[in-house]
Amino acid sequence: MSDSTERFDLPETDEEWREVLTDEEYEILREQGTEPKFTGEFIGKDDEGTYVCAGCGAELFDSETKFDREGSGWPSFYDAAEDSVELRRDTSHGMDRTEVVCANCGGHLGHVFDDGPDPTGKRFCINSAALDFEGEE
Ligand code: FE
Repeated sequence: MSDSTERFDLPETDEEWREVLTDEEYEILREQGTEPKFTGEFIGKDDEGTYVCAGCGAELFDSETKFDREGSGWPSFYDAAEDSVELRRDTSHGMDRTEVVCANCGGHLGHVFDDGPDPTGKRFCINSAALDFEGEE
């Protein structure tokens, strides 16, 4: 979405979601897709600000919690904003993982693993295309 701060009634149907999301955002947020490794726009970005959901604008991750995990092709965070995400077991693709979804719109964001740094030990491995960045003024 071009203006992620804009609030609007959440789309209800797949058709309505297709109207407000790009094809890539739709594939990831609504169809549990994954962007190719090392292609996302937020890899290596270290500006201060807030990462919000590309689907609904909800605040998800603070830049303070962002870190680079060598070899991971996606942006990593060690924590999510309070009550901003829901975790679901995901056994697709022959793996047993924990899916991370936006608590507000249900959009798929990525997965969370237990090999992150202190203080949480968590590594939220998130698709850049599922996020928009809002820099500090
Ligand atoms: Fe959302």
